[in-house]
Amino acid sequence: MIQSEPIHSLDDDEVLLIEEDLGLAAPAIGAEKPWKVLIVDDDADVHNATDLALSGLLVEGRPLLLLHAFSGAQAREIVEVNEDLAVILLDVVMEAEDAGLRLVVHVRDVLRRSALRIILRTGQPGYAPELDTIRNYDINDYKTKSELTRVRLFTSLTSAVRAYRQMRSHEEMRRGLETVVQASTALTKLHGMQLFAQGVIGQLCALLNVEPDGLICAQAGLEEGSEPARVIAASGQFSHLIQQPLSELNLPAVQQALEQCWNERSSRYEAPLLLYFSTEDGRGMAAYVDVRRELEPLDRHLLEVFCASTSVGLQNVLLYGRLVDQAYVDPLLRIPNLNRLIELLAAGSSHVRPTTLALLDIDEFSAINDTLGHDFGDAVLRAVAERLSSALPQSTLARIGSDVFGVLGPSDEVCAERLQRLFADVFAVQQQRLRISASSGLVQLADRQRTGTELLKDAHVALKQAKLHKRGNAVYFSELMGQDARERMHLLAGLRDAFDAQHLFLVYQPKLLLANGRASGVEALLRWRRADGQFVPPDRFIPLAEKAGLMVALGTYVLHAACNQLARLRAAGHLELSMAINVSQAQLREPGFTQVLRQALADAAVPPAQVELEITESMAADDLTLISALLVEIAALGVTVAIDDFGTGFSSLSVLRRLQAQRLKIDRSFVDEMHKDDSIARMVIGLGHSLGMSITAEGVETEQQAQALKALGCEEAQGWLYSRPLEEPALLAWLAQHA
Ligand code: C2E
Ligand code: MG
Ligand code: MG
Repeated sequence: MIQSEPIHSLDDDEVLLIEEDLGLAAPAIGAEKPWKVLIVDDDADVHNATDLALSGLLVEGRPLLLLHAFSGAQAREIVEVNEDLAVILLDVVMEAEDAGLRLVVHVRDVLRRSALRIILRTGQPGYAPELDTIRNYDINDYKTKSELTRVRLFTSLTSAVRAYRQMRSHEEMRRGLETVVQASTALTKLHGMQLFAQGVIGQLCALLNVEPDGLICAQAGLEEGSEPARVIAASGQFSHLIQQPLSELNLPAVQQALEQCWNERSSRYEAPLLLYFSTEDGRGMAAYVDVRRELEPLDRHLLEVFCASTSVGLQNVLLYGRLVDQAYVDPLLRIPNLNRLIELLAAGSSHVRPTTLALLDIDEFSAINDTLGHDFGDAVLRAVAERLSSALPQSTLARIGSDVFGVLGPSDEVCAERLQRLFADVFAVQQQRLRISASSGLVQLADRQRTGTELLKDAHVALKQAKLHKRGNAVYFSELMGQDARERMHLLAGLRDAFDAQHLFLVYQPKLLLANGRASGVEALLRWRRADGQFVPPDRFIPLAEKAGLMVALGTYVLHAACNQLARLRAAGHLELSMAINVSQAQLREPGFTQVLRQALADAAVPPAQVELEITESMAADDLTLISALLVEIAALGVTVAIDDFGTGFSSLSVLRRLQAQRLKIDRSFVDEMHKDDSIARMVIGLGHSLGMSITAEGVETEQQAQALKALGCEEAQGWLYSRPLEEPALLAWLAQHA
């Protein structure tokens, strides 16, 4: 049987999403306004405890405003009317098994609120959604309630609020950018000063009906930085001067004329023509055009209008430049940000040299931030960025999340070994010596025809692997990793649909008494037939359903369907048959399981003594206190219990003693090996009998096995020797033969 993956407890920075880290550390959206936090939980105590834990706290200098919802439906209404909701603290199981997850889908897919951060809090670790679910739903953090001490709650909330703020300001900026682009004239659509200036010369010459022959200079400090005044566009005899500082032109007359133009901040409408384009901060751009004819009054008038409108255009270009800078540059480190990295990745498909993308996440960065303060955290980021850029000179370094860097460069430079070596030496941060480690995920771009975002996703998958299993190390993305994650995501999506479309159904495998060969009961086994007719084995989809929180609903369906089938078998005259039903750990952990069972029995009107629940040995051993108490309740209903797959777990005799179970099922692996070695089968049978239990052997395929089991005193058998699991009509036919 495929073991379900262990559910990892996730650190603050382990659940890290590309989407979450889209941001730039930007100014606050509004001062002193409270952050709205919605607490969603059907347990009033959780609300009170959260209120108490968060009362009076400030996050990023602003108070919290706590809103409360006690069901998914109520939460939905609150989210809809609160545009500025920052964080949801969300319970999973409320009025429905997946009420919490449904709310998430609504928030993301219908309301399209991508900045809103969601922290999942769940009562039982058994409901942990797997990483894929978290990513699929864009859940930003996940905690079990018991994990959330006051301090951790505050820490999670702080990171969530920070991420929310970043994403909001990013959205704001994007809107601004779009507006400017839309409002631009044809000239301003030519991004960049140089193209703009080139355009101005072209238009100017067309206007005056002269050959393009002139140059345009930008005054010192017009753009970011403090470069000297330089030529930004030129044509005709001046073409070769582009980018040169004005002082190096060796054209004293031109230089002098331009300087005069700047100083006077006005144009001169006579040959040679000098035009001044002003900007808001008083630093202008000047054009020198070698017009070799007399300018007429009409020319002058046209030029005045042209200068005025071009000044507006220039202003827009500068603004656009600044916006581009903000959209593509990380404000703290002054290096490219995520947007820029995505563009580089998109542009890089023509790379000649093998190229690798690495994402690098500083381990325990939130702890550094929280214990040593944000200034120190910023200094750590600067130190890491410096080391990365000096050690990887041929690569582009970007900051793509609060503590996540992206590195894009030649594969021999961006490689696991070099990245790891980078962190071997201690860092000096604010006079302190600090050992820092980082986990990284790498993707080789070479043979991958993928978009920038897809490549980033792959790198994230690898990074996540590194953080979960190889902290402090580098892990390369492999197709398998992605495939596995994608496949499971598809499977999960398919499973949801299958459940809704009723493509999940039960088959029944007969069990019979070895003493007389007569049918004693059947075991209900779940089947999933996909739309294409293919079966997905239960060993594959049941663990998935457990992790996605679908198993309780699925299990309830199985209980009802199997009891109803038992009722139909009884109606057909098979009054002695029992129905064995497998139950999963998630079902047993759900409060009210016995009530669900009672309801299924009552609805089908079947005698409880003819229903047998199968629980596996490992389930019982995992949670002995809970399960043994539950078995007492189940026994009180009159339902019997079998321990399934016995012998594969590690439970001791003392575990078995504490369980009120009436039957042991020997796992089929031991039946399989009986012809070589029957010692385990012998032991299980002896053990069961000594505890007053009956024994069923699973997976009996040969007559020899059946005889040997009978000789050892095993009462009941099940297996292909007698029958495969059957659908109802075939089952009725089989039973008629074996009554
Ligand atoms: P299980 O409860 O131990 O079920 C017995 C499995 O052995 C079934 O596989 C059955 O088809 C298979 N089997 C029976 N006789 C033979 C045989 O002679 N030879 C061989 N090689 N195999 C035989 P299946 O149906 O694939 O189920 C696998 C497991 O999935 C089950 O193991 C059970 O743990 C789980 N499962 C199935 N249905 C349900 C369900 O409704 N709820 C829960 N919680 N688990 C289920
Ligand atoms: Mg079973
Ligand atoms: Mg079994």
